[in-house]
Amino acid sequence: MGFGVSKDVIEEIRSRCDIVDLIGSFVPLKRSGTNTYKGLCPFHQEKTPSFHVDASRQMYHCFGCGKGGDVFRFYMDKENVGFSDALHMLASRVGVVIPENSGENSDPAEGRRRADARERLYRVNEDFCCFFERTLLGNPDSPPTQYLIKRGIPRDVAEKFRIGAAPDAWTACLEYGLSLGYTEEELVASGIVRRKEETGRLFDHFKGRLTFAITNEQGRVVGFSARSLEAKPPAGKYINTPESPVFKKGNLLYALPLARKMMVEKNMAILCEGQLDTIAFHRAGFECAVAPQGTGFTEGQARILKRYANRIFLAFDADSAGQKAILRAVELLLPLSMEIKVIRIPGGKDPDELFRNGGPDAVAAAVDDAIPWLDVLVASLPERYDM
Ligand SMILES: [Zn+2]
Repeated sequence: MGFGVSKDVIEEIRSRCDIVDLIGSFVPLKRSGTNTYKGLCPFHQEKTPSFHVDASRQMYHCFGCGKGGDVFRFYMDKENVGFSDALHMLASRVGVVIPENSGENSDPAEGRRRADARERLYRVNEDFCCFFERTLLGNPDSPPTQYLIKRGIPRDVAEKFRIGAAPDAWTACLEYGLSLGYTEEELVASGIVRRKEETGRLFDHFKGRLTFAITNEQGRVVGFSARSLEAKPPAGKYINTPESPVFKKGNLLYALPLARKMMVEKNMAILCEGQLDTIAFHRAGFECAVAPQGTGFTEGQARILKRYANRIFLAFDADSAGQKAILRAVELLLPLSMEIKVIRIPGGKDPDELFRNGGPDAVAAAVDDAIPWLDVLVASLPERYDM
């Protein structure tokens, strides 16, 4: 098979992936026999299910469009990736570490090097996520802890969302990373440490900031979004991990692993602006809320949402930037035949403020009162066109 990964490892990944579980996380499946399931085909439009999954053979087949195969084939077609990427993503999903010396094809060294570098990046991020969590817990008087108290975020919530704090020192992360055996290059590649261009000196990227762990769809930590607690932060209120082989922000949604289950159950997702709003929705019982990462909502993120739910509730700020964000999201979601509603928060507050002032009931009422996106557009016409 090749791709720098031995047959044994490929079979190990295959045997640990349950095809019903995997496909079931993309499309709702219903049992149709002892070991068979069916659902609406994710590869073609249909109203009656002709997509069959056979648990005993670990294969799927669609009688409508003819697509079929095993877990790898499914992942490749669904995610539009090659075999090697599908293999790595599924390995990460089921917790198989692709070993360094499993190559057997023409260019195994390169494949091994890439797989290993990616795995090391995951580990750096996980190690620092734990480090930041401990730093937060161990410093009850520090600005990050005080900020969480002020925002009313209790310890169990901080733990669930893996909120932490970076030490308020220029080289604490650098030294900690080196002590764990990571190289300077690996620490720079992960974005934990940055290099000053003029002097070449290394310094901690997130110094003194409150950190929010960003995970991929499988729940592995791939980076951080970090909030400054200074009045005039030199690098911006929020900074993110720079793009890396594991941190591609256009394809990441904050809290997605925590939100997937309810998204499927309720066929509903809430898209909001940032970490604190997402957390507020979860605390209010809407554990189907996610947020784009740093930049605006992307096509990749829209496709990810589509896999879990058909109804999207947008909870953006009421200001003009928020209105623009709504239109942009509609533009990306409509072609995917999504039902789109807009949550409007009374008094121009954000969801976090609404939760803190009104509790879960106020949030639930705002979700209940969500209006179709077209009404929002029509309502905004007079001011836009001076009627
Ligand atoms: Zn089909």
